[in-house]
Amino acid sequence: MTPFPARLFGPQLPGSGVAVTGVWQEDDRLQIVSPEQEWSATNLSITASGFNAQGIKISWQDDRGEYVLFIDDVIARDLCLAGAPALYAPQLQRAGREKSSVERRFRCGWAVLSGLLVIPVLLIVLLLLKQDVVANWLIQHIPVQQEARIGDMVLSRSRLSMQLIESGPSVEALARIGAKLTTNSPHRYRWFVANQKEINAFAAPGGVVVVNAGLLHAVSSPEELAGVLAHEIAHAELRHSLKGIAKSLGLRALVSLALGDYGGTALAEGLKKVTELGFSREAEREADLEGLRRLVAAGIDPQGMVRFFELLEKEQQLTPPEFLSTHPANTERIAALKREIALLPQDWQPLEIDLAILRSGLPQL
Ligand SMILES: [Zn+2]
Repeated sequence: MTPFPARLFGPQLPGSGVAVTGVWQEDDRLQIVSPEQEWSATNLSITASGFNAQGIKISWQDDRGEYVLFIDDVIARDLCLAGAPALYAPQLQRAGREKSSVERRFRCGWAVLSGLLVIPVLLIVLLLLKQDVVANWLIQHIPVQQEARIGDMVLSRSRLSMQLIESGPSVEALARIGAKLTTNSPHRYRWFVANQKEINAFAAPGGVVVVNAGLLHAVSSPEELAGVLAHEIAHAELRHSLKGIAKSLGLRALVSLALGDYGGTALAEGLKKVTELGFSREAEREADLEGLRRLVAAGIDPQGMVRFFELLEKEQQLTPPEFLSTHPANTERIAALKREIALLPQDWQPLEIDLAILRSGLPQL
């Protein structure tokens, strides 16, 4: 049988899961292999998973607890389906039906959306339906190019309130670390240093990352900087800032955005406050885990992320750092990160970034 790639979550595994390979066996078992370990799974429960129900979720129980295997990639999914034993055919068919009905609904949705005349009617329907579900659906469907344009708008707004440094050793260092953390991103990342003394950084939609000079002066290793960048990149990649903007704008502007209309005044109004948008605890947890995953994938020591958050903790005793007002749950996050990191192999490549050179072009604050 052909092996297929997947991600395994379960007892004793990191919260971000591990990359594994699955292979169906003659005796209907599913063999799962990681570089360190092997699992043999039976009595599987199979359902569709993921946004759009394009992936497959396979779960089972053994004496250690419950395991869940996610197959999100379309090619991997087809390999898994092609090799699956007849025993699981009814479950797989059900999962397939779920997927095609979701696809049908989505195709229908777009046909309606693109008919401009229907929009007033649609809006009334949207308002009557569950707003959150509709908003999330629309946000997921804002194309990457439009997200980049929203990022541009946020950037021009930011220029009104802060002076941005766009080149020199500090920006180069951000770009070098950032490149390691954004491989395979659909966005073209742009890095800026704001001439501000507060310890803060933010990511606008579409790959715009702004780091305050005060933060660059405060970190004591490039790994700490990488840690905060990974966290901000995660917010951008998970579309948290886009969601924040979209929700503060309301459905009317959101529908305009999904349709590519940037002329509306609602949009311009809503963008004013983007740098003040806070994230929920849930979003913070997600960004920490996704940031951690990116650091690990880049071979960067994730202890730097913990040390950055500990630095904020220490600063807080003097004056609360700006970062904490928009990124809550700091104490929880330090404990959770330490737990995750303890499960990881300790094999990191030091970042060849000289902080003295990085700071040489910065204004004295
Ligand atoms: Zn955050």
